[in-house]
Amino acid sequence: MSIHISQHRIEGAPFKPSPNQGSAFASGLPDAIIIHFTGGSSAESAIGWLCNPQAKASAHVVIGRDGVITQLVPFDTVAWHAGASSHGGRTGYNKFSIGIELDNPGRLKRTEGGDYVSAFGRKYPAQQVIAAVHRNERVESFWLSYTEEQIEATFDLCIALCANYPVWEILGHEEIAPGRKDDPGPAFPLDRLRQRLITRGRDEDTGFNRKPDGDIDPDTPSRGTGFVTASKLNFRSEPRASADAIAPPLPRGTVVEILDQKAGWHQVRVNGKIGWLKSEYLKTG
Ligand SMILES: [Zn+2]
Repeated sequence: MSIHISQHRIEGAPFKPSPNQGSAFASGLPDAIIIHFTGGSSAESAIGWLCNPQAKASAHVVIGRDGVITQLVPFDTVAWHAGASSHGGRTGYNKFSIGIELDNPGRLKRTEGGDYVSAFGRKYPAQQVIAAVHRNERVESFWLSYTEEQIEATFDLCIALCANYPVWEILGHEEIAPGRKDDPGPAFPLDRLRQRLITRGRDEDTGFNRKPDGDIDPDTPSRGTGFVTASKLNFRSEPRASADAIAPPLPRGTVVEILDQKAGWHQVRVNGKIGWLKSEYLKTG
């Protein structure tokens, strides 16, 4: 189901405003999405807690096992979901990212009687449990499967977020706070979500996203300036559509320095980085 965002809110989704929020994101942000599990017993209990001032925590949305998305914080406003966090040279991910909480109890324990039990003592049916090794660990443990409805809603929401915000990084809480956090855990198809949505600068060896860096060559002479006319224009390492992007897409109006031109592409310099833009989305002269 396709999701529409307007005024930083999901159209038609329930909105329960959380008092636990910061100020508006800085310009050019949010550019990351962080995936979490609630570690709780239901979406309702998670929403109640994340709207309680005592929690001093929130997320932009909570997605229930039925796939219903409840929004708590508008997408242009900082929510408090990441805590102490760092990845790829950035720290404090609340100020960069949209937080998505999925209703899931988290790691389960298998009792001697063969039951799978959450930290808060609920038993879950064996057919809903997977055994898997967490990406930060070496030994198998037990996790409750996410529902298809929940995964589909998460993918659909991320597609809409990528269309509305300059997102170039999708990470699990477990990746920005390893050791401290283990969500969303191995039951969530995080790598598949990234492969589907983030093709820019993905590190093929680790599967992790890294912030792409272009070559810096201040000596190349300029041939004038231009500006971007598309709403978001990919900035690529070479003059072909399949080349890697070397930075987040450039928003409309970005002024670039023209360096060269070749078969429908312009080589440009922006913020000290040199790369290629499709000429048809560039106004020059
Ligand atoms: Zn989390």
